[in-house]
Amino acid sequence: MGVKIKVLPDTVINQIAAGEVVERPASVVRELVDNAVDAGATDIFVALESGGHSRIRVRDNGCGMARDEAVLAFERHATSKVSSIEDLTHLGTLGFRGEALASIAAVSKVKLTTRTRESDVGVQVTMRGGKLVNVQSIAWNEGTEIEIEHLFFNTPARRKFLKSPRAEVSRIRSWLAHSSLARPSIRYRLVSDGDEVLNLSAVDSRIERGKQIFPPELMPLSLDEGGIHVEGMVGHPGQALSDSSGLVIVINGRLVSDKIIVRAVREGYDSMLKDREFPIGYIVVDLPAEDVDVNVHPQKSEVRFRRSDQVFAVVRGAVLSAIRSIRKPMSTEPLSLPPVASPHIPVQPATGLRADRYVASPAPEFGRLAALSDVEEVRPVSAPSISDTVARQPSFFSSTDLVPGAGRRAFRFSDLRYVGQILECYLVCELEERLVVVDMHAAHERVNYNKIRTARAEHKLRVQKLLIPEVVRLTSEQVTHLMEQRELLGELAFEVSEVDHERVAVSGVPSVLSHINCTALLKDCAAEPVSAGWRERLEERIDHIAARLACHASVRSGDLLSRHEVYALFSELDEAELSGACPHGRPVVTEFSREAVESWFGRDR
Ligand code: ADP
Ligand code: MG
Repeated sequence: MGVKIKVLPDTVINQIAAGEVVERPASVVRELVDNAVDAGATDIFVALESGGHSRIRVRDNGCGMARDEAVLAFERHATSKVSSIEDLTHLGTLGFRGEALASIAAVSKVKLTTRTRESDVGVQVTMRGGKLVNVQSIAWNEGTEIEIEHLFFNTPARRKFLKSPRAEVSRIRSWLAHSSLARPSIRYRLVSDGDEVLNLSAVDSRIERGKQIFPPELMPLSLDEGGIHVEGMVGHPGQALSDSSGLVIVINGRLVSDKIIVRAVREGYDSMLKDREFPIGYIVVDLPAEDVDVNVHPQKSEVRFRRSDQVFAVVRGAVLSAIRSIRKPMSTEPLSLPPVASPHIPVQPATGLRADRYVASPAPEFGRLAALSDVEEVRPVSAPSISDTVARQPSFFSSTDLVPGAGRRAFRFSDLRYVGQILECYLVCELEERLVVVDMHAAHERVNYNKIRTARAEHKLRVQKLLIPEVVRLTSEQVTHLMEQRELLGELAFEVSEVDHERVAVSGVPSVLSHINCTALLKDCAAEPVSAGWRERLEERIDHIAARLACHASVRSGDLLSRHEVYALFSELDEAELSGACPHGRPVVTEFSREAVESWFGRDR
């Protein structure tokens, strides 16, 4: 029996195509808001009912459409934005395919109401399942409103896959807030079932918009190079998440996900992020339109760069210089969630946020500070006063520190009044009504790491020959692994050679470091074999080993430091870049306000 081939009617074609563009209410909002932006709107209002499942309304004060355009807009491939393929190479608009309205209309009931400045009466077009139902004149302000009812009413299979209204509102709110970073001069509002859940007034700069959305203590960054402009804010490595959901990327005005940028940002953190840690913040990249291909994804949520190496280098450089400014204590004003939100925008907490770093705080005695993802539910067992501290944002940098000259002056370790060493590892200090605690091992590690890296960069790394080589006994497997790394260790002025299959001898150490615990270092290095591609990632490997070297040359828990040694360490820290965090990104110093300390004793009540 032969198959019968037939050409599908337009309504069916549009329904099928809708699957690509319109997955859920959030994708509808995205397309409609993009259209409002393209229409030159300065005020965009979105209203949802049941998370958009029953109704989505997007109103703008943009250029509007004339009567015949308003009808034409629903045709597949009807667009006012491009007319030839060449237009795609210097695209200045978010839309270009002319398929969003056709796709949305195919799977819902749509009412479009619009008026241009030139016409004195507006027009209202009603569509149902992709078919024109009615066109009428109507009194209307300049601009456009599109109302979508009963999304997927005629495609029940899709309707089944809709997420809960709450999840949808949260997603839409995040998307709006994040994409608004590209256009600070537009006002964005979102109302969900009558409640305003987002209201971002127009501001002058992206940094200001960033401050409306993110915790204020992120570090600002900006860099211009070879026609590539990068701007944004990034967080302390201690705020890193276990996935990239806290990192917002905007490229030429589009909110996208992009592996290259994520990688560049991570590299900008130097060695301070662990393998699966991702910083929070946002990166806005602007580059000539012809250097980006935006037509690589059905929902336009990915792009492709023509000069990706250059983009990578500029983003990495911008982040690196911002990160270098980390000097401040990590405040223990504990946490709130979410990582990517402000007091005004409670976004769903991201899962997998590393809590252990924050909990370098007063934790155990005062009730458990639960994993960040649980924070909303946390009611610590003992002192009730902790629960509201837990609910506040961690501030690693008070906002005044972002503005040079404003507020309290720059933090200096040498200004600390050292009180004593506790729990074998922590240096307790006092500074201006604050209790400041320095992790001496992390501090020393940072100083040593910087020493070795600076010496290497300046070609001043020298081998200090040992009078009597130190012989270290290992397993034969460890010896094999270690010998694979001999060359890398040599790069760092660390000389090892094989004595026999279970022993190696250390004959030289970097002169900038003293008292290296060779046994611990060698065991540590031998624990993992070098991966095959290490030559391509030589610098990364060397950094990795440098961090280990620094670690094993540092004072250890249990070492007793004299007051003199403590202040010597403090002044070295004042000279060191990145002194706020150890090479592994853990905080070096953390502080408690008087109020926090008093709350431990219930004096705040
Ligand atoms: P695209 O955005 O790719 O052009 P759409 O299907 O999203 O395709 O929109 C089709 C056309 O309808 C647009 O090119 C534009 O001319 C017009 N349009 C859509 N939304 C608006 C709006 N909010 N204001 C003015 N014109 C609009
Ligand atoms: Mg569009």
